Amino acid sequence: MNSTNDIRRAFLDYFAANDHLVVPSAPLVPYNDPTLMFVNAGMVPFKNVFTGLETPPAPRAASSQKCVRAGGKHNDLDNVGYTARHLTLFEMLGNFSFGDYFKERAIELAWGMITKELGLDPQRLSVTVYHTDDEAFDLWRKIAGLPEDRIIRIATKDNFWAMGSDGPCGPCSEIFWDHGPEIAGGPPGSPDEDGDRFVEIWNLVFMQHLQEADQITGDLPRPSIDTGMGLERIASVMQGVHNVFETDTFRELIAASEEMSGAKAQGEQLASHRVIADHLRSTSFLIADGVLPSNEGRGYVLRRIMRRAMRHAHLLGADKPLMHRLVPALVGEMGQAYPELPRAEALITEVLEREETRFRQTLEKGLRLLDEETSQLGDGDSLPGETAFKLYDTFGFPYDLTEDALRARNITVDRDGFDAAMAQQKAAARAAWKGSGAAADGELWFDIAEREGASEFTGYAATEGEGRV
Ligand code: ATP
Ligand code: MG
Ligand code: MG
Ligand code: MG
Repeated sequence: MNSTNDIRRAFLDYFAANDHLVVPSAPLVPYNDPTLMFVNAGMVPFKNVFTGLETPPAPRAASSQKCVRAGGKHNDLDNVGYTARHLTLFEMLGNFSFGDYFKERAIELAWGMITKELGLDPQRLSVTVYHTDDEAFDLWRKIAGLPEDRIIRIATKDNFWAMGSDGPCGPCSEIFWDHGPEIAGGPPGSPDEDGDRFVEIWNLVFMQHLQEADQITGDLPRPSIDTGMGLERIASVMQGVHNVFETDTFRELIAASEEMSGAKAQGEQLASHRVIADHLRSTSFLIADGVLPSNEGRGYVLRRIMRRAMRHAHLLGADKPLMHRLVPALVGEMGQAYPELPRAEALITEVLEREETRFRQTLEKGLRLLDEETSQLGDGDSLPGETAFKLYDTFGFPYDLTEDALRARNITVDRDGFDAAMAQQKAAARAAWKGSGAAADGELWFDIAEREGASEFTGYAATEGEGRV
């Protein structure tokens, strides 16, 4: 009853029984938002419904939405393998009210789900509310009977959600589970809240205002509800483990990775196995949804994730390509809930194998160079940006792979130097361009290439802020 697959089922059944229409997960590439890299929350497929552009499929809906947070505004890539709660691909369980029920019912439903359906101990739950949201504060007291010191007022944007600078927005309320005093970390709002003791499991968004240019301009005529609970996080709570990588799904994937690589998941190798298991999921789901590795845009994010996993496979001493051999384990774990996975199994296998075979040809040489260049560096030092750029340009090392490779030795990478080397190379290419005789075309090409990003991914920065290589 506590398996990840059972919990997903229990969630959807509960909301179906409470008059919600259960909708399947949308593909990871958003059909309705060209500025967004990947679907990164359960509400994304409903964006146009919340703004009134589309008619809702029903007044109330629920889903288990696959989400990727590895690029753009929400980028958890660097956390993965190193925190107990972040994955690049995860499933967001959500219930939605499109102008139907609001705060009171949303809190009632959430509390009923976790304490009655799943039977969580209320003593170990605490919640946050936006500092001005007295209504939510009072409702948590009334419905859940929570003592005041476990309803924490938060004044930061963490507890205020907005679709963008224009559009619906409103306060949030997050539900946290206390994994116990043996784990480091403080309650939400405290200075050491980033520890893993108190883990956010569910976020309830109360869409009640409209804003223009980041200023609240009025109230929505019919407020709405958007919630998201991380399936892997609630599964770890239900399974009595504190880390998402210790849940059933990940145990299976890591067992496969141990078997195929011949390296045990212990000591320094543990993080590598975790990264591999996580990246196997995100890369496979992305390929199943039609993304292929390339040097720009979504394809480059996919390539970055793949290559990063492949370095970890190399660290484990895998003497031949590893990732594609783990696909059957993934399909076994998740194929029933996501039929697109078995459907694309052959393609996923082929793409992973081809990419890893290719990358292995330069990976070793690049790592050797990295070793040489860092032999004199130690704790707290920084790798020159030019070296990181050479690794990128000559050996196909995405920037974040180099960063990840030096992380264990606490060596950082000079990002500005890297960007400068990149800019210099672009300028040199431009200066060297003689063209085909049609000089104007060449100029035009470079203008477009610089604006849109030609061979490496720098885009989406204008809309999402963090789209760097
Ligand atoms: P955190 O503060 O832990 O990074 P968040 O506030 O960014 O989480 P939300 O945007 O509120 O997360 O997403 C809703 C829920 O999705 C979270 O409560 C959490 O359970 C889950 N979730 C978010 N990011 C991840 C992730 N990278 N891996 C696994 N689950 C996640
Ligand atoms: Mg986050
Ligand atoms: Mg949070
Ligand atoms: Mg949140």
